[in-house]
Amino acid sequence: MTFSIRVRLTLWYAVVVFLIVILMGMGVFFGASWDLRRAADMELTSGIDGVATFLRHKLDIHEMNNLNEELREHSALLPRGKMFRVSHADGSVVYQPDAMSIVTPSQPSSNQTLWQNIRVGHRSFRSISRWATVGSYIFLIQVAVDQTEYAELTKHLAWLLLFTIPATTLLAGFGGYWMSGRALAPIHQITKTTNSIDAENLTRRLPLLGTNDELDRLSKTINLMLDRIAAAYERIAQFTADASHELRTPVALIRSNAELLLMDLSDKQRTRQGLADILGESEYMARLIGDLLTLARLGQGDGSFNMELFELAESIDTILPRAQSLAATKNIAFEYISDNHVLPVFGNRAALERILMIFVDNAVRYTHVGGQISLISWVGDAHCGFTIRDNGIGISPNDQEHLFERFFRVDIARTPRDGGSGLGLSIAKSLVDLHAGTIKIDSDIGRGTSFEIALPRGDMASQSLKDERLAAIAHT
Ligand code: ADP
Repeated sequence: MTFSIRVRLTLWYAVVVFLIVILMGMGVFFGASWDLRRAADMELTSGIDGVATFLRHKLDIHEMNNLNEELREHSALLPRGKMFRVSHADGSVVYQPDAMSIVTPSQPSSNQTLWQNIRVGHRSFRSISRWATVGSYIFLIQVAVDQTEYAELTKHLAWLLLFTIPATTLLAGFGGYWMSGRALAPIHQITKTTNSIDAENLTRRLPLLGTNDELDRLSKTINLMLDRIAAAYERIAQFTADASHELRTPVALIRSNAELLLMDLSDKQRTRQGLADILGESEYMARLIGDLLTLARLGQGDGSFNMELFELAESIDTILPRAQSLAATKNIAFEYISDNHVLPVFGNRAALERILMIFVDNAVRYTHVGGQISLISWVGDAHCGFTIRDNGIGISPNDQEHLFERFFRVDIARTPRDGGSGLGLSIAKSLVDLHAGTIKIDSDIGRGTSFEIALPRGDMASQSLKDERLAAIAHT
């Protein structure tokens, strides 16, 4: 059986209050009883000492003949409720007041002081008895105090505690139930509002009371989390919409080409052209799907990036033949300027080659036939990297701001759909970010573009920085 937090809090509270009240009650009860007993015992001790001294005094002044009368006078001086009996060793009573006759006589052994609680009917007495040797006489002195009133008092106290403890616990239970209800009310509100939030209304947020207490901070944290989820959801929705939009054109082109071909298969020239167009479009789609997959993986951070310390120049050497043959297709002069220094990078080789190829690919694509492209590697104090410069069509300052957005392409009329999908630079940016690097653009319309990619030097980075970078990759 599971109880709600409210019921559990109430039960805990009631149990704690019950234990505290019980402890306090027991403290008061036993404390009071002990104090009363101590006061009575002190009175009895002083009483028995007083009687013994009185007897000795009587012996000293030779007045032992009329002891009964003398002791009666002495007893008149005692406070109310306190009385004594004096007997001889043979049990014969020397003196006892009427009230003392109901108190049972006691028989302590010699040298022993006997303490007794004596109950006679409804009355309670506390008594002390002891043998006293006075000259040649041996007396048994017994002093008693009437404790009936005190016994009643402690009995009343016990009854009072017996009733007040459960009553206090019950009241504490009600109070606890009410207090936990008040304390948990904001949680009910949070639960209600959170339940009403789904993909359709991700803009709804939990109300903040401005109290800055634990629950207000929890609401704030949930709101921030919802902000992040909404942003991610928005990005995914936008990405899906853009991806389907981008795929619609090539699919439509393939379809119309296929329909045209089916209408008339006799014209060999047209058939060849149509099939070539279909092939071009399907190649474009394959590239696009590949890019989309790369971006999706980067977004998920599937951990497939092995980071290592390596030479950037080696990666440049690897892509150089592909870059040169790509440039040759447009009769573009491609030069590689290396300062022959070691370029240590802590990163992923394949990712670096991908970055290089994206920039080379763009430079070739947006440079006129017969143009010029330079790839320059460099090394600085804390960074190293490469710059790729072309004398192509250039990018306006306005467009430079959006360059790294997914599917962003500068004015389609100026940059016809020639295999580019608008994903290259956004992939490059994500990969450079993973290496804690930066990209700088310098471009003028009609004069060309230069991209400078700077990466932290792998030999300078401390182990903690490398660990940080690995952790960042694991969290992307
Ligand atoms: P795409 O696949 O279309 O090339 P990118 O993300 O690589 O997509 O580039 C985005 C846009 O930036 C391109 O469509 C192009 O208009 C512009 N661009 C990129 N590189 C260059 C460059 N070197 N010169 C001129 N424009 C460029």
